[in-house]
Amino acid sequence: MSSQRLVVVANRLPLRIRRSGAAWQAAPSPGGLVAALAPIAADLDAQWIGWAGANPGPDEAGRRALLDSWERDRGFIAVDLPADLVERYYDGYANSTLWPLLHGFPGRVRLDRETWLAYRDANQRFADRIVERYQPGDRIWVHDYHLALVPQLVRERLPDATIGFFLHIPFPSAEIFKILPERERLLRGLLGADLVAFQTHAHLHDFRRAVLEILGLETGMDRVDLGDRSVALAALPIGIVVGEWERRLASRKVQSVIRARREAPDRLRTIIAVDRLDDTKGIPERLRAFRQLLRTRPEWHGRVQLVQVAVPSRERIPRYAELRRTVSELVGEVNGEFATADWNPVVYLRRSVEPAELTALYATADVGWVAPLRDGMNLVAKEYVACQAGESGVLVLSEFAGAAQELGEAIRVNPYDVDGSADAIHRALTMPEPERRDREAALLARVTRNDAPAWARRFLDELRSAARDGRRDGPPNAGPPSELLERGRAAAERAFWLDYDGSLVAIAPRPADAVPTPAALAVLRRLAADPSTHVALLSGRARSELERWFGEIPGLWLAAEHGVVIRDPIGREWRPLHGGLDAQWKVAVRPTLEHFADRAPGSSIEEKEFGLAWHYRLAEPELGAFLASELVALLHRQLAGTDLVALSGRKVVEVRFGWANKGDAALAIREGMPEPEFELALGDDRTDEDLFERLPETALTLRVGSGPTRARYRVPDPAAAIAILDRLAETRPSVKPMRVPDVARQLAGSGAAASRSGSRWP
Ligand code: UDP
Repeated sequence: MSSQRLVVVANRLPLRIRRSGAAWQAAPSPGGLVAALAPIAADLDAQWIGWAGANPGPDEAGRRALLDSWERDRGFIAVDLPADLVERYYDGYANSTLWPLLHGFPGRVRLDRETWLAYRDANQRFADRIVERYQPGDRIWVHDYHLALVPQLVRERLPDATIGFFLHIPFPSAEIFKILPERERLLRGLLGADLVAFQTHAHLHDFRRAVLEILGLETGMDRVDLGDRSVALAALPIGIVVGEWERRLASRKVQSVIRARREAPDRLRTIIAVDRLDDTKGIPERLRAFRQLLRTRPEWHGRVQLVQVAVPSRERIPRYAELRRTVSELVGEVNGEFATADWNPVVYLRRSVEPAELTALYATADVGWVAPLRDGMNLVAKEYVACQAGESGVLVLSEFAGAAQELGEAIRVNPYDVDGSADAIHRALTMPEPERRDREAALLARVTRNDAPAWARRFLDELRSAARDGRRDGPPNAGPPSELLERGRAAAERAFWLDYDGSLVAIAPRPADAVPTPAALAVLRRLAADPSTHVALLSGRARSELERWFGEIPGLWLAAEHGVVIRDPIGREWRPLHGGLDAQWKVAVRPTLEHFADRAPGSSIEEKEFGLAWHYRLAEPELGAFLASELVALLHRQLAGTDLVALSGRKVVEVRFGWANKGDAALAIREGMPEPEFELALGDDRTDEDLFERLPETALTLRVGSGPTRARYRVPDPAAAIAILDRLAETRPSVKPMRVPDVARQLAGSGAAASRSGSRWP
């Protein structure tokens, strides 16, 4: 029986443990995740894995007892992190490297190998805990930038687990992400998940670009294909628990505060701003803009007040302490410049405020001013809208907050633009009542519809389909068993169908560099020398190259350009698989490819005898991928009605005869030989799948490297493939006299082979 438990993994548990006098105590953790999941958590039998906020120390037994009770009663499972690790992992890599970098501030990033190692260590501890508590059927939901390596660390040990990841903060442009020395490890870490979700489409798009530029993986709009599985990508903006704010708003206590403030005779117009003291929040910029408003529009003197709540945060990090000083100074300057005996323009609350007080502040403010320089979402914007229900406060919102993508009825500002921001505030303060009401009503509808429970449900729905659709029934990541090889070695009649590039030698950046290795040549020689073993090399390469490299190997069949022409080992004559080898078409098609080669520096055209190919392995990856899809679409139209096709392969777009097919080539050769007792096919890409598909079920099909395949076995690289061939080339018990298939008769210009087996190409 598999359960449907939800395992939420976040840096912090919903509770943290604190020393109070001689005893340990539980206190709520900051952060809205618990509230967001609470409404659905009960149905999901949710467990939490996270740091409890205190390390083993004096009275370890007491600490353990409290943590055990959390686990037993609430499903909160603590991850222990030693104090020095927390400092390097949390204050260090997570908040001094990833936080500023992912927010797009490379100048503020600290790069430090020590903190990276701590980050890896901490991620490993989280992963260990997950694996230790895992039950089949669990859905593991990992949260945020602190834990980017966790999905892959878990995947390595639980290949079938359902794992989702949500990034609460932004993802930066690829240019900025590339700064990180650990960029590749981080991307691979995330791609261990079945679903990676972001706050906005813009973040998702930037992530796709990073995956392409750093890992060289071309992605779909919402999917990254990793070969044996795929990872879904989604943009799922987080919401707030609207019901909770409604409840607070309706409470008697809050209502009486609201009434008192609204009815105060000397009531000022108020602007509310609520932020953690963090340099992404744009607090100094806001204060400067407010000063500008007061400087340029004296009519507001004595009539408006900015209430800035600034919640202290991460104060052990020097950058944060510095910001705290800057903000205090600016508040002092603005008040010093404009305050009067009975009016203070800025009220500065440098502390956290109680939820009830915050609700009243939101509800009574005429303007909500949300001005981050960059923010994943910004919940304050949504909270202000929720607390203005039935009222007409105006939201002024930075275009760099994720929330700006959703909250179109807010007044949008560029927080760096001091004059523009001052104007926006003036506009908000003077906006006519009907317009304010319309805007607030529209915003409220949006915030209510996409609230936190809806967000969580959507994430879990996406995760379910991602886990279902992302798996492929691929072969095990293992070569054939020893007994099978032993049988193959001893079989009387054998056939080998071998691809060359990527299968017998590694792919090289330039095709001309992928010359046969001595090991590859040696094994081909040994296999082909055996009179009852038929060996065919089926390649996409031109016949001239195959001749040059393999022409002298006795007993070897060659098929060039994916089987367009085939050379038998006795007469050594090339014959077409199919009639009609006209290559005139190249005159018309070549200029199209040349145009694309001109547009993508580093790309080149390969001229084959019967085909043309545009290679873009050395071009800038994003441009290459973009042009490749454009080229395929263009050629598709150009080649309509001919027997040519345009196919995209690994960093290549190829034009060739639609009927050319390694599977048909193999069948044509096979026709003239005695039924093999054992046959093996080797390949690494899509063109070899034709071969796997056409051969009888009994054939031993072997895929080299990753990627979806119909082969029965898989080996990681050409070296492993050659090791298998070597074993099969060992001395054989019986050697029968050689029988040469009558290939000339079969192939002579008939085209029969292709039509007999039917072509899979259109
Ligand atoms: N908040 C708080 N205590 C306060 C003031 C605000 O817990 O004294 C909350 C606020 O209600 C909001 C959160 O802190 O839910 C800030 O979330 P946001 O997405 O705006 O920014 P973050 O701090 O996550 O970067």
